[in-house]
Amino acid sequence: MGKSQKPKTLLIVGGGTSGWMAATLMASRWPDINVRLLESDNIGTVGVGEGSTPHLKIFFDTLGIAESEWMPRCNATYKNGIYFSNWSSVPGFERYFHPFPAQTDDLTMPMFFKHIQARRLGRSETPHPDQYFLESYLTRNNLGPIAAECFPFNVAYGYHFDAALLGKFLAAKAEFLGVERIEGNVAQVQLNEMGEISRLRLDDSRTVQADFFIDCTGFKSLLLQDALQVPFTSYRDNLFNDAAVVLPTDAALEITPATDSTALSNGWAWRIPLRNRCGNGYVYSSAHLSADQAETELRQHLGLQDAEVSARHLQMKVGVVQQHWRHNCVAVGLAQGFIEPLEATALALTFNTIMQFIKRFEDGDFSGRYQDDFNREIGAKFSGIRDYIVCHYKVNQRTDTAYWRDNAANNALSESLQAVLHLWRHSDNFAADMRKYNLEGSYQAKSWACLLAGYGLFPALDAKASAAPDNGRGELTELAEFIRRCGLNFTNHNQLLAAHGVT
Ligand SMILES: Cc1cc2nc3c(=O)[nH]c(=O)nc-3n(C[C@H](O)[C@H](O)[C@H](O)COP(=O)(O)OP(=O)(O)OC[C@H]3O[C@@H](n4cnc5c(N)ncnc54)[C@H](O)[C@@H]3O)c2cc1C
Repeated sequence: MGKSQKPKTLLIVGGGTSGWMAATLMASRWPDINVRLLESDNIGTVGVGEGSTPHLKIFFDTLGIAESEWMPRCNATYKNGIYFSNWSSVPGFERYFHPFPAQTDDLTMPMFFKHIQARRLGRSETPHPDQYFLESYLTRNNLGPIAAECFPFNVAYGYHFDAALLGKFLAAKAEFLGVERIEGNVAQVQLNEMGEISRLRLDDSRTVQADFFIDCTGFKSLLLQDALQVPFTSYRDNLFNDAAVVLPTDAALEITPATDSTALSNGWAWRIPLRNRCGNGYVYSSAHLSADQAETELRQHLGLQDAEVSARHLQMKVGVVQQHWRHNCVAVGLAQGFIEPLEATALALTFNTIMQFIKRFEDGDFSGRYQDDFNREIGAKFSGIRDYIVCHYKVNQRTDTAYWRDNAANNALSESLQAVLHLWRHSDNFAADMRKYNLEGSYQAKSWACLLAGYGLFPALDAKASAAPDNGRGELTELAEFIRRCGLNFTNHNQLLAAHGVT
């Protein structure tokens, strides 16, 4: 491909969620490029990944697809955030909620920071995050995230969805946008004399050519890592989980608008409530637990006597490529890296990668002019999210198994994560210092404070200070009343789903 020249043909390789997200976004953005997608009927998709962040809403908004169109087809539900249970053994902090952002945060968050600051000084305030945020209240009361029109504040939200159905939905959309689907197995990736990808040879001897390639082949990363030899940096030093076991259970009658993330003996289990079933999985470290033990523990955790429900076992390759875009190929999705699913960030990274690539490719007149900037930017996104996930493990206070003790003792922390933990212990103004030292890259101070306060990571109480007559209870009562009255503008989650045709 010549420099500064718009490609005539673009081939997406892989038809998982990432491949079809790339196909819809690129075909709608570049109608004059011939976008094709190659996938294999014999090689399945990873088949998990059913919780999102608010980025998935932006993805659908970008394509102009209404919730009433896609949600019923994917058995989707709303998600206000994530419950973390049993990650901390500090009394009173066995469970907390990590809410997505809301415009009301501007009103309620200052009080949160005031109270956690007081508690960090040893005063007996009330630092548990659950009472400070509207989305936590909505979730406790099974309310969906969409308010009556007269309520002037928005709350951000994500979704839970059936990954296989979402793939089918997006495939139909992409084909409607003119994307041609090719079925076949890639047997060989051929390079030209400049080291760029020139064509793919399929196992039935067909060849497929393109000017530019998007590698969405999942953990295999056939194009970027395998053919172009881009090195992969493993995160195994500070993220020990490398396997998962997955099991469905029946849908709940009352569908909670939140993911549950419960710490178990050697990892954690997710519970994702869809309209027609619950998705469950146990993410664990295979160095600490065997696959059989993990499956038995997950079944016990779910109260499942029924051996009829079969489990699926998966390996996870946790880490990131050193370059996401090289020559005429960009990797998207699991092919570029995976942090582990604790905060359900993979599709957000996928969306971000596609949108940044589109921007940088266009800004550089379809040359590789901004390739380095793009690679730096996406690399920084991965590092920022990794810090936040690693922090969950580092600050756990469980002592029941070697897994949790090994995680707490792990000192392979990035400088930025060390800086956040230092500020938490020593700063007089955590939120302001997080901004000052540019530590809010992927997660805002609110999210960091919810995690650290949610685990009860505070010094011992100062008996004298905690006996002070006014420790803020009056203003907390007012805050609770404010949040309750905000909550009157929201609808029961099941009813909201029904209103969007999800029945
Ligand atoms: C345990 C677990 C839990 C997860 N939970 C979440 C979550 O809650 N939220 C979230 O956002 N993400 C989650 N993820 C990540 C999420 O599953 C993925 O980001 C998402 O499914 C996209 O995957 P993908 O499209 O990149 O790869 P895949 O789904 O693996 O698709 C790869 C594609 O490449 C094709 N392919 C491979 N080899 C060849 C070949 N030789 N020839 C032709 N085609 C080929 C396959 O046919 C397939 O179509 C989770 C992942 C795991 C492992």
